Amino acid sequence: MNIKKPRGTRDFPPSELAAREYIKSTLSQVFEAYNYQRIQTPTFEHAELFQLKSGEEIEEHMYVFEDKSSRKLCLRPEATASVCRMFSEELRSIRLPLKLYYYGPMFRYERPQKGRYREFWQIGMELIGPQSPESDAETILLAYDSLTKLGLTFTLEIGHMGIIRGLMSDLKIDENIQNKVIACIDKGDISQLEQLVDNPVIHDLIKLKGSVNVITQADNILNEYKTAKTAFNELKEVLEWLDNMGTEYCLNLGIARGLEYYTGTVFEIQIPKLGAQSQICGGGRYDNLIELFSGLKIPAVGFAFGFDRIMNAIKLQGIKIPEKRADLVAAPVNNAMRQHTLKIISPLRDTFIVDFDVMNRKLDKILKYAGDIQAKYVLIVGPEDLKDNQVTLRNMGDGKQEKIKITDLENRLTKLCR
Ligand code: AMP
Repeated sequence: MNIKKPRGTRDFPPSELAAREYIKSTLSQVFEAYNYQRIQTPTFEHAELFQLKSGEEIEEHMYVFEDKSSRKLCLRPEATASVCRMFSEELRSIRLPLKLYYYGPMFRYERPQKGRYREFWQIGMELIGPQSPESDAETILLAYDSLTKLGLTFTLEIGHMGIIRGLMSDLKIDENIQNKVIACIDKGDISQLEQLVDNPVIHDLIKLKGSVNVITQADNILNEYKTAKTAFNELKEVLEWLDNMGTEYCLNLGIARGLEYYTGTVFEIQIPKLGAQSQICGGGRYDNLIELFSGLKIPAVGFAFGFDRIMNAIKLQGIKIPEKRADLVAAPVNNAMRQHTLKIISPLRDTFIVDFDVMNRKLDKILKYAGDIQAKYVLIVGPEDLKDNQVTLRNMGDGKQEKIKITDLENRLTKLCR
């Protein structure tokens, strides 16, 4: 039988998984430094959860199935709707603001290619409760600081869904059409967009991209449109917070996130030269989603990193990830020493990575193995040494050996390995 993994999924060998774990933990540290706490939601949910408001683009790509009791379920395509569901089911009595983050696999039935998978990981955060410019700014800063901590070079683009939606409301465009317009802008489908709306103000607005000069241009374009102008002023307040922190960004009023629930500030982060799938982060404010599930009018803002794309970016930009190597390989010189050896190394495992030979190999084979796995030291346990309560430590870097009292072993290793 020759069964292969499903299309769009991947196996992760130890070295790759170790790198992923390292990056995950570095990112988690940044999230936790902002006092965000990790949560976990199920990998499958009622399909309806995402059909309500995640948007056509997501719905089209969902893995939907019926369980044995004919429930319509789906593998989660994203986590924000799940977090809002969890909030209304479990967390509504907790004092706001809630600062949450998550890490886990998402599933979308898309055409697989580099940077686009059917099973992929996201790490993201949701800030539930506040509706202030500083909460939008904190969200963006958390994404910005995370990538800076990893040493990545990236570009940040910021827009605001309230501007384009406000403009369409000011122009009395129906909400159904509005969603279609947003989807076209998100996909960059200009000809379809022209068929939907022919008002030149919309077309001028979504082309606005750049730095401070965009602000003056947008102010001029939006002068007569009250709702859109209010949204734009909101965005300017967020930018003030970011400017104060020296955050580098580009304004892009043509950002229209595919997810339908965004209502305010939105942002995307790209990695230059990563190819077609260069967007590694998307997020923004969604003030109506929690109300949809809980009836409570609670605003929120958040983002998700495409974790696999971050890993691709790390590789592309040549960022080194420290490797986890065994500190010690334990090598009994003969059969009689094997159980003594295990007793000696056992307490060391509280502090060090210690590999014990479980193949009953000869010393030269164990030394070769230690070299192959790039272990730092080999602990040789022989009967003569043992009589004097000592062992031999071999440095695999230079081949030098020293004798050490068993009682001094832990201290010596701490000096050498930590
Ligand atoms: P979204 O939930 O669509 O806003 O996506 C957030 C981030 O997840 C994107 O910026 C991508 O980096 C990543 N992402 C989305 N879809 C995929 C996919 N099929 N494979 C890998 N990463 C993805």
